[in-house]
Amino acid sequence: MRQKFIAGNWKMYKTTAEAIAFAEAFKNSYSGDTHEVAVCAPFTQLFALKNAFAGTSVKICAQNMHFEEEGAYTGEISAQMLTEIGVTYCLIGHSERRQYFAETDESVNKKIKKAFEHGILPIVCIGELLDQRESGNAFSVVGAQIEGALAGLTSENVQNLVIAYEPVWAIGTGKTATAEQAEEMCSFIRSEVGRLFGAAEAQTVRVQYGGSVKPENAAELMSKPNIDGLLVGGASLKPDSFKEIIEF
Ligand code: PGA
Repeated sequence: MRQKFIAGNWKMYKTTAEAIAFAEAFKNSYSGDTHEVAVCAPFTQLFALKNAFAGTSVKICAQNMHFEEEGAYTGEISAQMLTEIGVTYCLIGHSERRQYFAETDESVNKKIKKAFEHGILPIVCIGELLDQRESGNAFSVVGAQIEGALAGLTSENVQNLVIAYEPVWAIGTGKTATAEQAEEMCSFIRSEVGRLFGAAEAQTVRVQYGGSVKPENAAELMSKPNIDGLLVGGASLKPDSFKEIIEF
């Protein structure tokens, strides 16, 4: 049985003071026993959030990390720096990183491996662009992303992996994929994991949907058999709407 998993991606929003205020408000209203929940925050807030959420079941997630152990990479953050803080998850290969910071399936693959080496659980983001969907190539694009991102992973890695399917045309646009479109692709992702690794891996890997998730559409998306969770951007910035989504 795959545990449902809802993560909020704050992107480049909130100061540390605002992050702490979120945590306090959220803790007061959320009982903590619905599903697995994580907050993906900018690096500078991770330490404060780890403390603010101490004693709750809310996990802390980074939004990126470097694939090298350490070195002369000015401005980068290593896996070890994240584990020291007590980060559980790390987003890897978000479409904004692919689009603006030249992330490729190859760098995503290296980052996933480095994360696992340090006991950080990756949430790997994949998804097609609008023109790729309109030209009928969504499945081949996503298939290639899975093959590239997961190359050389062990069975154990794959079983601990979270894959977030985020059609790029649905991110921050208010245009959610229909629950049927999301289910169709999440089911395809699971079958590709099965083809590349095996039935046990396909049954265990968790697949989230992301892209304009809101309190109004969370329940329908979560009713689909192959959607195990949600990656929520804009609607995770307010404690109330994030809580409504979690308690869909
Ligand atoms: P959105 O972002 O919910 O604001 O569309 C989702 C994401 O980028 O993870």
